[in-house]
Amino acid sequence: MEKKIECKIVQDLLLGYADDVLSEESKKLVESHLLDCDNCKQKLNEIKKDILEHNDTQSKQIDYLKKVRRKSILKAFRISLILIFLLFALVFIHKFIIINTVAHNFETSLQLGNIYEEDRQELNDEVSIIKTYFKDGRYKRIYEIYSDDGMEQVFTEYASDDSNKLIQVSEKNKEIKVYDKTTKLSTISSIPTPFIANTNLLEKLITSFTMSVHTSKNYDGTECYVLQNQFDTSNKWELWLDKQTGLLIKEVLKDSSIEYFAGTNVVKNIKDNMQEHKYQLNTVTDEDIKLPDFSDYEIKTFNN
Ligand SMILES: [Zn+2]
Repeated sequence: MEKKIECKIVQDLLLGYADDVLSEESKKLVESHLLDCDNCKQKLNEIKKDILEHNDTQSKQIDYLKKVRRKSILKAFRISLILIFLLFALVFIHKFIIINTVAHNFETSLQLGNIYEEDRQELNDEVSIIKTYFKDGRYKRIYEIYSDDGMEQVFTEYASDDSNKLIQVSEKNKEIKVYDKTTKLSTISSIPTPFIANTNLLEKLITSFTMSVHTSKNYDGTECYVLQNQFDTSNKWELWLDKQTGLLIKEVLKDSSIEYFAGTNVVKNIKDNMQEHKYQLNTVTDEDIKLPDFSDYEIKTFNN
């Protein structure tokens, strides 16, 4: 074959040769020609150089795209962190506002000085009901026990802020017990006080952080805020506060007592320990707290 024609054929094959895609025969033809043709050898070098440069730009482009992607992932991550933080901050502020409002409502309700309160507590198979009529620094308190035998009125108690006497009247025994207290009583302080009342700003902030707050309806329809420790899962204590008055409706200690079948360790019933309070504002009259005529009662005096 003439040298010039051979060069043309070989040069057509060079790109394939550099990419290593030629058949064995073509490869051999190219290699034997290259042995004694400097011109074609130089062409091959130029082709190889071009390929190298091309690969280099391509990998640079890929690097650049990777960088851009990494940056946008970082940016998205940062934005989600900020969003999560904002969400937490919003929840926190919302709880703080609720706790502040409910504590304020409680103070306002107490300032009325006129509250009827009913306290219900379970004692084994009995239920104890304490009815208290508060008015202008005085109270009358009736202690009742309900059981399968019916209702038993245990005694009625009278007290007032301006006296250090506590009077207990048992109608069943026709007996009056008078207790002399060394310090004067503050009748209103016996109203169940939610722990968020009378707390300072820092304590309220801590409470807002540690407590979860949700809204729920008591069985009688009262709209309540239910406060619960959100970090201590072993503490199943719930505090129910009346939205409007801030008064403590009930305290529930979840799963606090377990009943077993007699003589076994088989669980029969899991009961929540519950203390409930009912209130009426501004309904107590002077008649409600008046000390009745006990002239035929025996009077006993105690000092303590
Ligand atoms: Zn050649």
